[in-house]
Order: sequence, then C-alpha cells, then structure tokens
Amino acid sequence: GQCRVVCPTGAISIHTNIDEVWEALADKNTKVIAQIAPAVRVAIGDNFGYAKGENVMGKLVGVLHRLGFDEVYDTSYGADLTVVEESKEFIERFTSGEKMPLFTSCCPAWVKYCENKYPEFVPNLSTCRSPQQMFGAVVREYYKDPEKNEGKKIVSVSIMPCTAKKEEILRPESYTNGKQDVDYVLTTTEIVRMIRKSGIVFDKVEIEAADVPFGIGSGSGVIFGVTGGVTEAVLRRLQQGHNRVDMESIKKSGVRGDDGIKVLTYNYNGREIKAAVVNGLANADKVLQQIKNHEAEYDFVEVMACRRGCIMGGGQPVNAGPRTRKARMKGLYDTDVNTQIKKSNENPMILSLYDTLLKGKEHELLHRNFSGK
Ligand code: SF4
Repeated sequence: GQCRVVCPTGAISIHTNIDEVWEALADKNTKVIAQIAPAVRVAIGDNFGYAKGENVMGKLVGVLHRLGFDEVYDTSYGADLTVVEESKEFIERFTSGEKMPLFTSCCPAWVKYCENKYPEFVPNLSTCRSPQQMFGAVVREYYKDPEKNEGKKIVSVSIMPCTAKKEEILRPESYTNGKQDVDYVLTTTEIVRMIRKSGIVFDKVEIEAADVPFGIGSGSGVIFGVTGGVTEAVLRRLQQGHNRVDMESIKKSGVRGDDGIKVLTYNYNGREIKAAVVNGLANADKVLQQIKNHEAEYDFVEVMACRRGCIMGGGQPVNAGPRTRKARMKGLYDTDVNTQIKKSNENPMILSLYDTLLKGKEHELLHRNFSGK
C-alpha cells in the first residue's frame, strides 16, 4: 500500500494493507475471513452519523459481507478463549506462587514496553496469546479442512482499534508452527476508508449476525475493549456459577471506571486475590516501580497501554472527548447486559471447541512460544 497511517502514541508511521485486502476480496480463489474486535463496534458509528458509543456490530457485519468478506467473526470469541486460558494460568501461578504477579499480555504495546523497560518482569507476562492471535490460530486450524476451505486460499483479516496490533501479528512467538496466522490488520479508520471508497451506504445496509461458529462471544469477551474488562472477565470465570448477586459484586468491586490505576480485592476460596487494573503506560510505570520497590504486592495486574483501554485506541476515530469515551464505555457494558452468556467458560461455542479442534492443541494454538521456555 502507498498510504500511511500515523500512530498518535508512538509517532511512528505504519504501512496500511488496504490494497492487499482489496486484492484478496476481488480474488475468487480466496476465502477472506474477518474478525472484529470489541472496541470497533462502539466507535465506527461515529463516522456514519450514529450516536456516540452505539454498538453498530450488526451493520458492520452486513457491510463487510457486502464488501466481499466470506465470513465475518467476532474477536470476542477469541477473548473468551483468552479468559479461559488465562484464568487457568492464573490459578496455577496463584497456587504455586511462581512468577507472581501475573501480568496480562493481550495489549501488544504494553508487552513491548515491559520487554524494553522492565525485562526482569517478562516472565510475569501471561503466556496466553492475545484474543486476536488465539482467534487467528483457531481460524487457520479450522480452515485446514478441505471441506471448509473449498480449495481456496484463506486470507485472515482483523479489524482492530489499534495500530500496535499490526506489529503483533508479525511476532514469531505468536506464530503457529513457524507460520503467521493473521495476514492483515486494518484499523477502524482504515475500514471506514474502505467502506467510503466502496460506495456502500453504511446506514442503509441491513443488519446481519456474525457467522458461525466463531461469531458468538460472551459478555465477558465484549468488555475486553474497555479497561478492567479482562480482570472482570477473569473474576467471573473464577466465580462458581453465575448468579446475579455475585456478578453484581464483581462489577462493584472497583474494576470499572475511568481511573488510571484501580486496585481491588476478590475472595477466592477463602484467599484474597489482589488485582491492579492499569491503563496508560505512565500508570504502568508507576505500578511496576511499586512492585519493584516492594511498595505494593499484587496477584493479578491488567495493563492496557491506552488510557481507558482499546475503546480509545490509536486506530479509532479521533477527536473523541470525554463524552465519546463515556459513551463507548457504556456501549460495551450495555452490550454485556444484553448478552445472555456472561461468562467465557459458559459460551457453548467455546466448550465445543475444547472437545474438538483444540483437543491436545491448546498449547500449540493458544500460547506463545517464547524461545527457551
Ligand atoms: Fe492497542 Fe491500545 Fe488496546 Fe493496547 S490498549 S491493544 S495499544 S488499542
């Protein structure tokens, strides 16, 4: 591609793959698969006259089908896989006391920051791949089946709120058997450009549901797009059952809200889990210093590089002031409220995957393969 997009946080410019995606869409010998990240659906409407924060997922799915995407899936599904794997990893570490606290690793800008500035904490990073990467690996595996790929080449495209996600797909640790899983990342603003160029009138398109089997995410998967979402999703997973009182107490634990650093405790089988929910790298720096200087002790630390999380990512429509940011947050939490399945491990499409495609392959497809580990 000739066009460049500029990353507002890193002051680096990144090539766009819009041209390659157009080519793949036009090629009859390809099957083009899209995954849409949670934060995209509450921000893309900004460009097409919708109320701030309105979830326009149904429209976006319809539009992508018209653009020629063969299957349109939901990254919330990948987020559900991340919750299941990361909760398991957390309990193992919490029980053994090794490599504590556990740091989330689904934000590539944070992972890079930790590697560069705090290499001593790299072992604390979760080995779980990010939702985008888990999704990418599962899609590749699924379409190996000739009945599924129909003899066509699979082109895997992610629609992300984030420019750092473009680099994440190139990291060999997240490859499966030495191969890159996701081919291209388009940011929200890039897909807006493609929609405009196509002449499709966004608000005139009929809404559609995401495709099966990877189009169904739980409410936990959806809230990944906002700071605190990963922690809330993991706590829900750790909670037995799903009665409303317990879900409500997690919601009220201090996990939500705008603050750059939130600290909360959660009772798990009589033991206290202390979590820090951090957004913004300056805040991450503060928390890492605290941990390093033994001024604070945590069991679980969620970090998102962008203030307020992915809803305010560098690939989202700009000029988002406080009202927009509140509306996007509300948009995701309302989506959770309206989703029947609240817990990742209760998503039936996730459960069936563990019994089929993932059997014996959890490590190969869902975890990073850091060399020497
Ligand atoms: Fe990307 Fe920002 Fe989300 Fe990190 S917090 S994954 S940098 S959008």
